[in-house]
Amino acid sequence: MARYTGPVCRLCRREGTKLFLKGERCTSKCALDRRSTAPGQHGAANKKMREYGMQMREKQKTRRYYGVLEKQFVNYFEEADRKEGMTGENLICLLERRLDNVVYRMGFAASHKEARQLVLHGHFTVNGKKVNIPSLIIKAGDVIAVKESSRDSVKFKALAEAAADANAPKWLEVKADAMSATVLTLPAREDVDFDFNEQLIVELYSK
Ligand code: SF4
Repeated sequence: MARYTGPVCRLCRREGTKLFLKGERCTSKCALDRRSTAPGQHGAANKKMREYGMQMREKQKTRRYYGVLEKQFVNYFEEADRKEGMTGENLICLLERRLDNVVYRMGFAASHKEARQLVLHGHFTVNGKKVNIPSLIIKAGDVIAVKESSRDSVKFKALAEAAADANAPKWLEVKADAMSATVLTLPAREDVDFDFNEQLIVELYSK
């Protein structure tokens, strides 16, 4: 599937917020700290954003944060809309349940992109079965673990050490030593501490 391969700091500048797309490198040298204007020739112009623009930016910000393409994002929205409850909250919770995001929340990857790569390369299992689908939606009770044959590698030992220091969300019980995590409950909207305004996305797709 086609993916965005251009400079990722540009995406943060476009959305005007840190999306942490470069993992560890985001903490030391953030392009947004140096230049906070939108990219492009007219990026620095003080444009007044209209309602549609704000809704569009919020959708793009959310999509880019989770590393999801447009079509896939629309599918998530439609699924969120079919579920009971608030569509916007359902949407964020669905995105949060993607396997690559769970690996990221476990602390085994410094960015969603890295988590996606690790899953694609088959380093993780779900309930004992090897899975290489980053978009797999996890369920309560699922156990996500590093594949047996990957555990002794220097890379995964270092990742386990990083995971031991990471702050996992309360819906995930991480055992860094065992390189695994159990999904205790499904994530709720309040468990996601990134600044999304999901209502703007609902308004955008409800037009
Ligand atoms: Fe975004 Fe990270 Fe680049 Fe900062 S360094 S602009 S947070 S990708």
